[in-house]
Amino acid sequence: MDNKKSHKMITAIGYLIRTIGQENPLLNLLIFLCIVSTVGASFLLVYIPSLAVHAVENRVNAASFIALAAMAVGYIAVLAVQRGAQGGRGMRQLFLGRSLLYRIFLRRMEYDYAYTESMEGRQAYEKARQVCWWGTDFRLLLEGLMDLFVCVFSFLLYSGILSTLNPLLIILLLALSAVNYLMLRRAQRANDVRRDEQAAESGKLFSLINAFKNTKIGKDVRLYHMANGLEAMLDKSLKKLQGINLEFQKKMAQAQSMEGVTTALRDGAAYLYLIYQACNGAITISEFVFYFGVISQFSNFVTVCVQSFGTLQMGCSGVLAVKDYLEMEEVVDTESGDQKSFPENVSIEFEDVCFSYDGKTNVLDHFNLKIQNGEKIALVGINGAGKTTLVKLICGLYSPQSGQIYIQGRPALSMSFRERASYMAVLFQENLILPYSVAENVSLRPLKNTDEALVTECLKEVGLLEAVNGYDSGIYTQMTKAVTEKGISLSGGQQQKLLMARVLYRISSALWILDEPTASLDPVAESETYTQFHQLCGNRTCIYISHRLASTRFLDRIVVLENGKIIETGTHQELMQYGGQYARLFSIQSQYYKEETTNA
Ligand code: ADP
Repeated sequence: MDNKKSHKMITAIGYLIRTIGQENPLLNLLIFLCIVSTVGASFLLVYIPSLAVHAVENRVNAASFIALAAMAVGYIAVLAVQRGAQGGRGMRQLFLGRSLLYRIFLRRMEYDYAYTESMEGRQAYEKARQVCWWGTDFRLLLEGLMDLFVCVFSFLLYSGILSTLNPLLIILLLALSAVNYLMLRRAQRANDVRRDEQAAESGKLFSLINAFKNTKIGKDVRLYHMANGLEAMLDKSLKKLQGINLEFQKKMAQAQSMEGVTTALRDGAAYLYLIYQACNGAITISEFVFYFGVISQFSNFVTVCVQSFGTLQMGCSGVLAVKDYLEMEEVVDTESGDQKSFPENVSIEFEDVCFSYDGKTNVLDHFNLKIQNGEKIALVGINGAGKTTLVKLICGLYSPQSGQIYIQGRPALSMSFRERASYMAVLFQENLILPYSVAENVSLRPLKNTDEALVTECLKEVGLLEAVNGYDSGIYTQMTKAVTEKGISLSGGQQQKLLMARVLYRISSALWILDEPTASLDPVAESETYTQFHQLCGNRTCIYISHRLASTRFLDRIVVLENGKIIETGTHQELMQYGGQYARLFSIQSQYYKEETTNA
């Protein structure tokens, strides 16, 4: 094993023991009991038969009977400890996996958004999650570690006993065990190769199955007869998996038969030596039985030792994936954002900002924009123009590669993420409704941290209080049916009002951003929602995004984006007079809506 691998293994084992110490200290005790009882039980299993033969040899007397009975009771007690510890360990191992899963889930939310959204971040999360969900790697590492300890203790015990018989016997056993080790390693390497190949192929197979399992694509599957094509793909994948396993079985069978031969040679030579000694009267029958058992156990533990090393290696990579994920430094700063005094509104300035997601294509290219205190602006433009990217940069979810963003004249990068967030109330396209009470959905905080009077006031302000009070539990009514049948579902319009109340609840926010939260509404409802937001926003700075130009035409300024650049800016009237892209889009859209109204 090279240095890098052994270093990895030591790190993984150290992490596992530390984590168990933190999460479930009793598990460490149970592991210790498992190790001690396994060594104890194996020794008693060797010792008791030799004691029995010794008693027979010397005609059973009271003393030997008591000794035998005591050993038998001892054996039963050790077995009871072993089984009890194993049972408790299994359950606690499962809990360990679950609690780590929970930590991984929570940790993910602390990571920088850009990292979480990136392919690298998603893969790291998925790998760590899978290790904990199935718990296989934790189990492998733990069991490998336990076996290794059992082997080391057993090796010391049995080689000590055998050395009293003949030290050369240990050398013979070890030499043949080394050959045995090489055979087993071959089998394990074949298993490692199979594991990687199988993981890659199963990954493909399951992503295919998962995609087709998704009920959302059920319509397409039927309409386009996709099942036939799927069958062929599944067939190909399954055949490949079968091929990988057959190849592995072949190598495994070869290695195993070679290993069987060396084991037989090793044990046969040792037994022959014992028979020779017994025939010469150098050892008694009971000693013969005892040493015979010791040799069997010694050989057995050498085999287990080799296997446990392989098991440890297998478990290592998964455990390290969890460690790496939980200990990463891509965390958003958690510095408090609690402000003592809040401005009524803020100014935002982009100064020569360049930003790209992939480090190659600039989504924003030397971008400049100043939004004055209290200004209400609309960001409009076709899909992909860069509107949401601008919002993500303002919020601090991403950082520009060059240039500066100023919030209230201060470089945004000099502010903590929490401080920046405390200025803002933002609604994104994905309307987040959680399976909690109405009050918690407004505050987005647990009920104990929710200002219930403020929730009621906000609901009243947006015109939703009457409907909410119509439910038996009022603002405590559970939303969505995800966790209870009694959960309520609001209509599209009511949901918008709830989101409005959520924004209002952040009374200290100096900046409101609406990134098309109304995309699922019809144009009239969207226009009404934006108008209502406009009436409620007071002196705050507001950024409204919509691809339906009629919804934002009343704002102070309209900024038209295309390919991450501002192509036009002005009031609705100015832009219409200018007769550029905005005017063109506006007349196409109004023409369309007119036609729609006439046809309706
Ligand atoms: P808009 O909000 O105007 O529709 P976006 O800001 O969402 O536009 O997207 C601007 C460009 O950035 C598009 O080309 C889009 O494909 C790309 N983009 C958006 N989000 C990501 C992302 N997470 N990773 C890579 N590219 C992205």
